[in-house]
Amino acid sequence: MTTLVMKFGGASVGTTAALSQMLGIVLYEAAQWDHVVLVVSALDGVTDALIDAAHLAQFGNERGYRRIAANLRARHLALAEGLQLGKTELAALQADLDKLLFDLLSAFQRITQKNRDALSAENLDAAVSMGERLAALIVAVLLRQHGLRAVAIDAADIIITDANFGAATPNLTLTQERIDRDLRPMLERNILPVLTGFIGATPTHKPTTLGRGGSDYSASILAVGTKATEVWVWSDVDGIMSADPHEVLDARVIGELSYNEMAELAHFGARILHARMVAPLRQHQIPLRVKNVYKPQLAGTLIHAKTGSDNQIKSVTQIAGVALAIDRSGPYGEIANLVDQHMQREIGTSSDVMIAAQSAQRTFITCVVPASAGPDAVSALVESLGRELNTTGPSPRWHVQQVSIVTAIGDGINSVPRLAAKLFAALGDIPILAASFGAGGCSLSLVVSQAEADTVLREIHKVAISS
Ligand code: ASP
Ligand code: MG
Repeated sequence: MTTLVMKFGGASVGTTAALSQMLGIVLYEAAQWDHVVLVVSALDGVTDALIDAAHLAQFGNERGYRRIAANLRARHLALAEGLQLGKTELAALQADLDKLLFDLLSAFQRITQKNRDALSAENLDAAVSMGERLAALIVAVLLRQHGLRAVAIDAADIIITDANFGAATPNLTLTQERIDRDLRPMLERNILPVLTGFIGATPTHKPTTLGRGGSDYSASILAVGTKATEVWVWSDVDGIMSADPHEVLDARVIGELSYNEMAELAHFGARILHARMVAPLRQHQIPLRVKNVYKPQLAGTLIHAKTGSDNQIKSVTQIAGVALAIDRSGPYGEIANLVDQHMQREIGTSSDVMIAAQSAQRTFITCVVPASAGPDAVSALVESLGRELNTTGPSPRWHVQQVSIVTAIGDGINSVPRLAAKLFAALGDIPILAASFGAGGCSLSLVVSQAEADTVLREIHKVAISS
């Protein structure tokens, strides 16, 4: 039995043109595999709009959130009308969409009623989970219209998570039970389930989300649960690139990556895949492909358990961070906690990457600020840390600065002779504030000042494409 799990991101379900691309792909693949499972994201921009609306609701701005809800309604209905459904199918779809939009307005009303408290992550999840539900309905109807036995499934009934709203972790045992009980029998009856990405629910059925970009993670959990042969993530880029093409003009598509390389890439800022999706696939050895919905004939990037290393640098990423340095030796724990407190307070997130270095006379810590925290997050953090450390801090003083972490990725970077040396040589006399090899021996992260970051990125990229 072969099973293919395909995830379509917001850009590949957001317009009529994108939907017809998706349709062609699904019709073709449904004939190649025994079972196909789809995972869809909310239409492009919808999750952001829902978050904005929830904040308006929090401040009691009823006109504001109603306006956003009305725009969302117009956009989804226009998409539904563009599908050229029969009259009854269209009316049924419109009624289903309206039912969800009605629930959405109730969710906003509940937020408004509690507006004295900060917007709770729990209420936010209840509202933002609607984006995926709306999208899944439309996709399933489109596929049915073209002869596939597609059914929209709310992942809140399948993916059971903890109650860490906003960044929930699936409970694999409970989720597996649901997959076996509800999803497996559908596949056996040749039904094509269209699941909402990004969302799940607690065992007591409170809606949760898996973090921004979480539909990838949903696809990976569902692939494990259905013992899928492969997972394909469809987006509007040709695959995983050797660098961000906005930053490096001659960036190119990477044909193959190991799970480790992909995990490090996602961890260090390549925004194309959700960082947590790789581990379950690696554990169960399920290959992952990243493909362009507009160019399905291209192979894209294959991520799998490659054996042996190619002894080359494949990709380079850049991510913003904050660095703290002090001219004495001391334990990191306390200062790392302090950074974490400030991150939670100032930008509502925490850092899952830290690079630390210490000598007899100096302690240096860098914390990565997740790109999802927004463009002003780093400066806000630098300012608030600076304020606290310079008033209540011990002397000597901590020096707080905004930095970039540039990471070179390639299996064997820490063990292949001269690979790291080649990088350092390429950087000449650019000052490097700290350097650290990552997990799995396939990444080298360099902390540099923001001003040098672009140069460092481009120099490393030159090494990557020449090796
Ligand atoms: N719609 C969600 C987001 O925008 C999840 C996803 O796209 O994967 O973050
Ligand atoms: Mg994504």
